[in-house]
Amino acid sequence: MNTHLIRSASLASGDRTDILVRDGVIAELGSGLSAKDATLIDADGLIALPGLVDLHTHLREPGFEQSETVLSGSMAAAIGGFTVVHAMANTSPVADTAGVVEQVQALGEAAGYVTVRPVGAVTVGLGGQALAELGAMASSRAAVRVFSDDGVCVSDALLMRRALEYVKAFDGVIAQHAQEPRLTEGAQMNEGTLSGELGLAGWPAVAEEAIIARDVLLAEHVGSRVHVCHLSTAGSVDVVRWAKARGIAVTAEVTPHHLLLDERLVSDYDATYKVNPPLRREEDVHALRAGLADGTIDIVATDHAPHPPEAKQCEWSSAAFGMVGLESALSVVHAAVVESGQLDWTDIARVLSQKPAEIGRVDGYERGIATGAPANLTLYDPSVTRTFSPSDLRGRSVNSPYLGRSLPGRVIATIHRGRATVLDGELVNAAALAVNGAHHG
Ligand SMILES: [Zn+2]
Repeated sequence: MNTHLIRSASLASGDRTDILVRDGVIAELGSGLSAKDATLIDADGLIALPGLVDLHTHLREPGFEQSETVLSGSMAAAIGGFTVVHAMANTSPVADTAGVVEQVQALGEAAGYVTVRPVGAVTVGLGGQALAELGAMASSRAAVRVFSDDGVCVSDALLMRRALEYVKAFDGVIAQHAQEPRLTEGAQMNEGTLSGELGLAGWPAVAEEAIIARDVLLAEHVGSRVHVCHLSTAGSVDVVRWAKARGIAVTAEVTPHHLLLDERLVSDYDATYKVNPPLRREEDVHALRAGLADGTIDIVATDHAPHPPEAKQCEWSSAAFGMVGLESALSVVHAAVVESGQLDWTDIARVLSQKPAEIGRVDGYERGIATGAPANLTLYDPSVTRTFSPSDLRGRSVNSPYLGRSLPGRVIATIHRGRATVLDGELVNAAALAVNGAHHG
C-alpha cells in the first residue's frame, strides 16, 4: 500500500496542514510531518477536499461501450477528482438484477480508479410496468442502496408508492427522474418564448414540478425517503423547499450544467446543449444556485452522459440528450457558485462529497478529512484558469459543452483508498494501479 505525505495543503476551512496517508487511511494531520517511506506531494496553494462522490453517472457498460466503459468512465471520474461514482441502471441489459449490478461493481473494482456503486433499476427493464428485484440487488455483493429508472420517470403513482415502501426495509432510496411523460412527448427544449421562436417542441417546467410534488407527498404518506435527480426549474426548488419545511425526507440534486448554462445556448441549434432535463431560463439558473446555497438542494451530481459523435453532431431533433461532466464538474461548480461567493469550499465538500455519500449510504465519508478516516482525497488548484479542451477529457466521449470555454481551477491529485489515481494532473496508468493495488472487498 502506498504512503503519501501531502505537504502544506489548505483544508476547506482555510487551515494549512500536512496529510500523511498510510495503509489506506489518513494516518496523521498536522504541520511538519515526516515519513521516510512516503511519496511527497507538494500541495502548497492547493485545497484538499474529501474525495468527490457522484450520485448520478452514466458509465454505459454493459451494452453501450462505444460511448463509455466502466474503465473509461472511471478514468474520467478520477481526473475530475471523484473517488466514488454511482453507475446508472440504463445499460443493456438494464441493471435490474443482482447479476448485472454485481457485474458492474466487479468491472469497477477491476478498473481500480474509483469505487463504482451500481444503481439498481426500479422497474424491470426500465419498463415502468413491474418492480424489479430490489431486495435481491440490495442483498447482492453490490449492496445496492440507490434505485432509479433514470432516463425515464417512474410515472405510475402506484408503482412509485410500492417502490418507496419496499426500499425502507434495507434503507434504500428511490432517485426519481422527474418528467411527466405525457406532458413531454416529443419535447426538445424548455417550453417558453424561446422554444416558440425556434420552433422546437417545448418541455414545460410543470412536467418536472408536478412529479416532484406527487413524489414528496407519496414519500410522506409511506414514511420513506426520496431523492430527486437533476432539479432544473425555480418551481422545483420551491416544491422541495416546501417539502423540507414540512419535514418530508426528500433530498435533491442539481447538475453543474444547470448551475451555469441556460436555454439561450440552444439558439444556434447546437445539439451539444441538448440535455434532459433541458437547459432552462436564466432565472431558473439563479434559483438553482440560491437553492444550493440555502440547502434546499442537497448535492451536485454530474449526470455524466456520454454519447458518440454521430449521436450529437446531427440535427437537433434527432440528437441524443446528454453531456459529459465528470472531468469538468468541480471547475464548473467553482465558476457557478464559488466565484459568486454563494458557496465556500466547506460547502463544496458537503455538496460534492459528504452529502452524496450519505444519500448513497457510502461509508467512510462522514468525517471528511480526519485522522483515521479512509484516505479519499482531492487536491485542487483554485488559482489557475484554463481553456477547457478535448485533452482535458479522459472518457470515451467528447460531448462536453465546455470545450473552448475558460474555466477556473484544476484537479492536481486524487487519492482513492490511499492510492494515487491522479498525480500532477495526470492519470496514474492502469498497469501501475494494478501492480500497487490490493484487492479490496
Ligand atoms: Zn435523468
